[in-house]
Amino acid sequence: MSVRFLLKKWISIKAEQCKNVAPLYSYALDRKLTIVEKLRIKFHLLTCNACTNYITNLSFIHNVFQTQENQIQAEKLHITLSDEAKERLKKKTETQPMNLE
Ligand SMILES: [Zn+2]
Repeated sequence: MSVRFLLKKWISIKAEQCKNVAPLYSYALDRKLTIVEKLRIKFHLLTCNACTNYITNLSFIHNVFQTQENQIQAEKLHITLSDEAKERLKKKTETQPMNLE
């Protein structure tokens, strides 16, 4: 057995379980992690491929939603009526009462 293999095995024994580290991945998207939290993640990811894949997927989904949110915000800023259109709407609503039947 190589030293690298033994080192990886030792780390996997000493590292935390996935269920204890996993909440930190979500926290990292919402706030800045402490140094201890970052080290816990780095130490765990040295040996856990499942969590590495999970983080990749989580980051992708987060980026998709962030991009969507930015686009929606940008579109909201550009949706305005021209002064002429506003005036036309105002006249229409004043002269034509709503038909509620
Ligand atoms: Zn894990």
